[in-house]
Amino acid sequence: MQRYFVDNDKFSLSDEQIHHLTKVVRSHIGEEFEIVYAGTATRFLITSLSPLKYEAISKSLNDSELPVNLTLLYCLPKGEKLELVIQKATEIGVSEIILVRSSRCIMKIKKEDESKKLMRYQKIALEASEQSHRLKVPVINKIIDFNDISKYQFSKGYIAYENEDNFSFHKEVFRRGDSIGIIVGPEGGFSRDEVEFAEKNNYRSVTLGKRILRSETACIYALSVLSYLVEDL
Ligand code: SAM
Repeated sequence: MQRYFVDNDKFSLSDEQIHHLTKVVRSHIGEEFEIVYAGTATRFLITSLSPLKYEAISKSLNDSELPVNLTLLYCLPKGEKLELVIQKATEIGVSEIILVRSSRCIMKIKKEDESKKLMRYQKIALEASEQSHRLKVPVINKIIDFNDISKYQFSKGYIAYENEDNFSFHKEVFRRGDSIGIIVGPEGGFSRDEVEFAEKNNYRSVTLGKRILRSETACIYALSVLSYLVEDL
């Protein structure tokens, strides 16, 4: 079932959404689709196609959101990996993705390109939210320098560090309502100073296992484990 996010309480769709519903997925009169507004999904029945008309039939009761706030702080990877991670992180249930410039990031985003890039990333998150039937769209609107992680405090903050050989998520107790933040490094990893700075700012080093994961794999793995551990709280 198609799902669209709107930001108006009249549930009116944008021209792009109308085009998608009528021309791309070629919906018919009598078919249903959902509109999400302010975190609630409402189901609609199509009563006319040109012009498009629809009437509300029910509120969808399933809450597909995680019972925690999950933030990924991702150090800019090379190439298309970031778009893959945004899509997968959204499906897994992330609430926000903060992009980080760390010392070993190869990918550089010029200041003048930032807003265009962030708009593209936000669109990927919107599409993934619609596809995965989420009630919220993750926020992706920041690119920060590594030392600015100190401005983001979480009830449970972590830095994924492959040289951590003791603490893993198995040993953590999570509660509904936790705000969880995890920093994942770029292809070249973190400098020792960065790890120490993170630990001084309430981000605990955590291992993701005995293997060295690619940066994008580490994001998807870490978020999957966290989502699994909190889903039924
Ligand atoms: N230093 C790594 C190496 O020796 O190849 C390169 C970094 S790894 C490709 C990219 C990022 O994924 C790391 O900065 C870390 O955040 C995360 N990562 C990869 N494997 C991990 C593991 N086993 N435990 C914790 N984090 C891991």
